[in-house]
Amino acid sequence: MPFTPYHMGPGLFIKSILQGSFSLIVFGWAQFIMDLQPLFVMITGEGQLHGISHTFIGATVIALFSALTGKYLSEFLLLAMGFSYKHNRVSWAVAVASAFIGTYSHVLLDSIMHADVQPFFPISLNNKFLELVPVDVLHNYCLLAGLVGLMVFGITNWRMVKKVF
Ligand SMILES: [Zn+2]
Repeated sequence: MPFTPYHMGPGLFIKSILQGSFSLIVFGWAQFIMDLQPLFVMITGEGQLHGISHTFIGATVIALFSALTGKYLSEFLLLAMGFSYKHNRVSWAVAVASAFIGTYSHVLLDSIMHADVQPFFPISLNNKFLELVPVDVLHNYCLLAGLVGLMVFGITNWRMVKKVF
């Protein structure tokens, strides 16, 4: 929830390690869909802030939806960025893995940050992850992961980065 950009830090880091076996676009798409519920609640003032979307059950459903739609969204965006047909393919395995990494890491990070998140609903209403790490430290780690990821990805994909920008 409103800290969606922080979730992209770990995503960038994972991308720099897994490279072509991970889709940052599918991952980011999953983060966006995860936070639609809190966004809607913040705008309307109705319902639970994090609710069902921020449980592992909700995250499973959102991951499947994100993978199904994100695969085509990624291929469309990569094509629009000028990648050839051969280089804009996102396999189903990559789409599904990226979506699940996205939504499960989102639940974990938000569970640490927000007291109202119930990750194991309906089995348990307890949030064992709450403040496992101090929130400001967590934010700093997310930022650091993003910076390191950007650097490593930029260096290892210099030719592609130059082509896009
Ligand atoms: Zn969230």
